[in-house]
Amino acid sequence: MSQTQISYVVGGQKRYCIDIDYSCKDAIAAYLGRRPRGSKVLLISDSNVYPLAAPDILALCEQAGLQHESFVIPAGESSKSLAQAEELYAFMADRHYGRDTLVCSLGGGVVSDLAGFVAATYMRGLTLISIPTSLLAMVDASVGGKTAVNTPYGKNMVGVFNQPERVFISAEYLASLPQDEYASGMVEAVKSALLMGGECWDFVCTHAESLSSFNAEDPQAILGLISYCVAFKASVVERDEQELQGERMCLNYGHTLGHALEKILGYGTISHGQAVLEGMYCAELLAQSAGLAQKKDTDFYQEIIARLGLRYNSYDLSAQELIDAMRFDKKQHAGQIRFVCLKSPGEWCMYSPDTSELMSVLTSWCKQAASIRDES
Ligand code: NAD
Repeated sequence: MSQTQISYVVGGQKRYCIDIDYSCKDAIAAYLGRRPRGSKVLLISDSNVYPLAAPDILALCEQAGLQHESFVIPAGESSKSLAQAEELYAFMADRHYGRDTLVCSLGGGVVSDLAGFVAATYMRGLTLISIPTSLLAMVDASVGGKTAVNTPYGKNMVGVFNQPERVFISAEYLASLPQDEYASGMVEAVKSALLMGGECWDFVCTHAESLSSFNAEDPQAILGLISYCVAFKASVVERDEQELQGERMCLNYGHTLGHALEKILGYGTISHGQAVLEGMYCAELLAQSAGLAQKKDTDFYQEIIARLGLRYNSYDLSAQELIDAMRFDKKQHAGQIRFVCLKSPGEWCMYSPDTSELMSVLTSWCKQAASIRDES
């Protein structure tokens, strides 16, 4: 079984290690065994993941002689809130948790963002380890140190950069992940593969059918893709941890339209991955319209996306509605609506269309997405 350890450094200081394996139990046991005996661990998980995955992790805490308690949040995006963070602060304060407590995040991107935020802010920061259990959290949310909660004013509106001390990615968790959640994570993986280009994109093209669902008997393809995505994200974050130099902006490929869709349709109504899939297609149309890419490239990406089992959905929206939602996105800059556009796999740029070009592309996005749906 392939086993990988990827490390990265941000702020020129500490090295962060990410273990990737079919099961990381041995690596987790070794890590916990180095914690002071009798010290505390707070495991944060959600109501779906806790019964499936927590017993094994808690057994490893016992084995290492650590005191442990768990806090289980309701599964779903609505738990990524300040109210939920406050409940956690109260739970920790009631039990007199000090700065020597280790926070262990066990779950998808919601748990990872919330637990990371609480670990960063309670008593100005506790040590955090992350054990992602959804594909999206494995290839994206658990790497890079972005943490956040949603507020009525916007998604991920309040947050902080906080790097976990270790991340343990075990592909075995994907066996219980629902297929639509797997597909949502696969979109982020394809996004990374397109941005990375080279052998990573070739790997996706070669293994598209094997990657379309998780196969516990043959996890090599998904382990390979996770390793590529994590290495890519770690290298981007290393160069631009806080999105200051523009480098990290590439990770927003597909997100300009994607965020607008999530905002209009309601968070949780459309999965983040589905929104990004629609958004990548829109960005491809824009790249064609701006003369940055050719139609044959877009057609080829669509072929791979279909082989991966990813499908487009139908929406009854107007171009103007989408533009209005895009204008208020926090990623926009000086009033301009910006898109990450792909020139070719591995080569991207930022592009701000004027209003008439944007209107025309969004109108044809609605039409062309409909024709792709009819074909699939
Ligand atoms: P999620 O955490 O809600 O997980 C999706 C669903 O799958 C949930 O119902 C969860 O309980 C369930 N689940 C997770 N692992 C499972 C398993 N192994 N078996 C069975 N069920 C399982 O959502 P997500 O898609 O993992 O993450 C989305 C969140 O991540 C969003 O809030 C998004 O903003 C955030 N995100 C953060 C970053 C970042 O860099 N911090 C990057 C991308 C996305």
